[in-house]
Amino acid sequence: MRIDVLTIFPEYLAPLDLSLVGKARTAGLLDLRVHDLRRWATDRHRTVDDTPLGGGAGMVMRPDVWGEALDEVLGLGDGGEPGRGPDHEPDHEPSGVELLVPTPSGERFTQRTAERLAGVPRLAFACGRYEGIDARVAEHYRGRGVRVTELSLGDYVLNGGEVAALVVVEAVARLLPGVVGNPESLVEESHGVAGLLEYPVYTRPPVWRGHEAPEVLLSGHHARIARWRRDRALERTVQRRPDLAAALDPATLDRHDREI
Ligand code: SAM
Repeated sequence: MRIDVLTIFPEYLAPLDLSLVGKARTAGLLDLRVHDLRRWATDRHRTVDDTPLGGGAGMVMRPDVWGEALDEVLGLGDGGEPGRGPDHEPDHEPSGVELLVPTPSGERFTQRTAERLAGVPRLAFACGRYEGIDARVAEHYRGRGVRVTELSLGDYVLNGGEVAALVVVEAVARLLPGVVGNPESLVEESHGVAGLLEYPVYTRPPVWRGHEAPEVLLSGHHARIARWRRDRALERTVQRRPDLAAALDPATLDRHDREI
């Protein structure tokens, strides 16, 4: 998979050299390229923003700079010739790239989104700053046949899209084959296919500062351990996330589940 990130703070993406994502890059499983948006700014001060049309506080990121940058990074060529509006037919096969625009007004990013994005061959992030990116940028690339998804991490406001890009890259990259050493560890995770939060986990020592790990986990009895884990996962989901519990498919529940 190839991922391009466009930002005015390329250093913000440095953590993607670390840990599993860093290893995936080294192993060639993930081709991650970070670009400084200011490279496409044309004035002496490398300006990427301007005052909002209609007035108001803050600054807005300029569409001309984003347009030049995205045309080049997405490999789409010049989309700015006269007479071309956002509604024209795409003049090329969309390149299989999906443009992700982090914004608090986007659709909520979830594990389902991560799973879908893990199947897309190319992703590109347009990281906003200030009051965000001129709205015509997303509209323009949609009109050129690019799938554009405006994504929100949650109902709060960050200073920029870089943290969102970090979150999405990490959530997607760990789903790529070969990135997580033992793929079994992806199976029972929270927000997985079962729709449950994960059960609590323990390691050695069996007693720590007077707190005992559940005895069943030391029993070696696989069926009992599996039942205990399922019960705890259900219990947690009901207690912590009644919204997820309410969305469980009743057909996937057994009699024991229903008692919880
Ligand atoms: N004025 C914008 C609004 O109220 O919707 C917020 C702009 S925010 C200060 C600057 C940038 O941070 C956004 O363009 C976006 O890239 C990013 N951002 C902020 N909150 C976010 C969130 N919850 N999810 C994803 N990106 C976010």
